[in-house]
Amino acid sequence: MSDIKFAQAPPGVEGQGFFATRLDQVIGLARANSIWPLPFATSCCGIEFMATMGTNYDLARFGMERLSFSPRQADLLMVMGTIAKKMGPVLKQVYEQMAEPRWVLSVGACACSGGIFDTYSVLQGIDKVIPVDVYVPGCPPRPEQIIDGIMSIQDLIKNESLRRRHSPEYQELMASYNIQ
Ligand code: SF4
Repeated sequence: MSDIKFAQAPPGVEGQGFFATRLDQVIGLARANSIWPLPFATSCCGIEFMATMGTNYDLARFGMERLSFSPRQADLLMVMGTIAKKMGPVLKQVYEQMAEPRWVLSVGACACSGGIFDTYSVLQGIDKVIPVDVYVPGCPPRPEQIIDGIMSIQDLIKNESLRRRHSPEYQELMASYNIQ
């Protein structure tokens, strides 16, 4: 018997020989199951991500991730580790190089809030320089939490309206970060 599982169809109207649903549901389904994450790993949380990619947890068993080390070929920025203030502009530049639609997963206490490093040199959360979609708490978070974060991103992607990126609210959000 095959272990292959198919992605669940979006809600729609079904009959003999046809299935009708909304276009943004279909696009969301395709996007959520073909994420290209860019791992921006700066310290220990990055090691936890390596464990997530390793044989025990094997993120690839989802069959939807293809790691990309080029921002131009990535749609999910995973920030894992302590981000020094000096690195803030670099992180922002990486984000700006990614094409829309793009999502951000903040992994671990340091990326989310500066963590234990409440010092003059550490950025107290990456949402000071780029918008974040999902926060994964923990120091470090376990691989299960990272996987849960990615699954939360998938839920967001599946349910995002195609118009969101053109909405005044989204433009306002980008403008608040001084991002074109
Ligand atoms: S949250 Fe903890 S484990 Fe993660 S980078 Fe910071 S200090 Fe390291």
